[in-house]
Amino acid sequence: MSLDVESLRKDFPIFETQVHGKPLIYLDSASSSQKPRQVVDRMVRFYETEYANVHRGVYDLSERATAAYEGARAACARFVGARDPRSIIFTRGTTEGINLVRFTWARANVKAGDEILVTEMEHHSNLVPWQLLAQEVGASLRHLPVDDEGLLRIDLLDEYITERTKVVAVSLMSNVLGTINPVRALADAAHAAGARIVVDAAQAAPHIPIDVNELDVDFLAYSSHKMLGPTGAGALYGRLDLLEEMPPFHGGGEMIREVFPDHSTWAEVPHKFEAGTPNIAQAVGMGAAVEYLEGLGMGNVRAHEKEMVDYGISKLEEAGAKVYGPKDISIRGGVASFNLDEVHPHDMATILDQEGLCIRAGHHCAQPLMRVLGVPATARASFYVYNTPDEIDALVGALDKAKGWFA
Ligand code: PMP
Repeated sequence: MSLDVESLRKDFPIFETQVHGKPLIYLDSASSSQKPRQVVDRMVRFYETEYANVHRGVYDLSERATAAYEGARAACARFVGARDPRSIIFTRGTTEGINLVRFTWARANVKAGDEILVTEMEHHSNLVPWQLLAQEVGASLRHLPVDDEGLLRIDLLDEYITERTKVVAVSLMSNVLGTINPVRALADAAHAAGARIVVDAAQAAPHIPIDVNELDVDFLAYSSHKMLGPTGAGALYGRLDLLEEMPPFHGGGEMIREVFPDHSTWAEVPHKFEAGTPNIAQAVGMGAAVEYLEGLGMGNVRAHEKEMVDYGISKLEEAGAKVYGPKDISIRGGVASFNLDEVHPHDMATILDQEGLCIRAGHHCAQPLMRVLGVPATARASFYVYNTPDEIDALVGALDKAKGWFA
């Protein structure tokens, strides 16, 4: 069974909105996804009937709020195959999750002369934190190359992972190329060298089934807002034994066990990493997004996107566009970055906007990858559960129009 897109679109009130008097065609979910009514309603119900601070009150309402918040944590654990909800830390999103690892595990373990391996396709979120850490401790950064097809040069792993490597930081799916990377192979190589692997799953989590045990990763970060949930929430999975030995991230209320004038002791994992009042309603909304996606079935989500990206690539190529990334859709998610010779991506996005079409144009927070591709920018159409082949036809029709303008 694949997705019943016509019927699930009714869950998304935004599709009743018009843009420039045209029906909205939203092809920018890799940037941020739209929200189903079920997620919005869950947050409204939480605020209207269950809201209080969490983990503090002994009164019934606070216990209800805590149950909702911790229930969302359990959902986020289940979503990535984590066996214990304590291995999930709520964050503001992928960027914060990766920075948490940088400031805790990595700062305690990466020393002068060590190496951090990233890849040429990383989003700035999984590159800049490692640059900052390398500068701070005197470590060096290496970049696993990407080949002409948009695949990681796994054949070079022996050269790039050495006894000095302490961290391998890689995305499970590229936000530009759509490539789904062989993270298990990278995890095995990292572990064989005594390194830890940190996975950026911002793009993967919304679109492909994930099992942190099968991937054998140490840390994996993802964002709620790209997977039908609200902004301001994200989850960081960490291996429990690592989380337990790690120093805290932020200091403040909630993350302590006992506080003395000159020192403190820490709360149990995961609370040790959640200082202050968390984004409670956002976490509850993220849990509702997980439940919505589980209802659709992540296998069905993936199957739908394979169909969409397959159709999208063939239509874009027919229209004369250069599409970046692997052609093999078994290792590609629902992202199609492209360029049309005649039209600059920013002009294209502006012209398409007049037709009610939302696409992204720019460097997609991956400037080093743009240099590898030899372009300053690309246009990007990205697909999710609510997109239809008709919308791809509309995109291609609008591109033809754009070409006409510049002919
Ligand atoms: N990594 C990748 C691959 C992404 O696409 C994004 C979002 N564009 C991020 C990290 C950062 O996610 P967030 O902005 O939710 O922290």
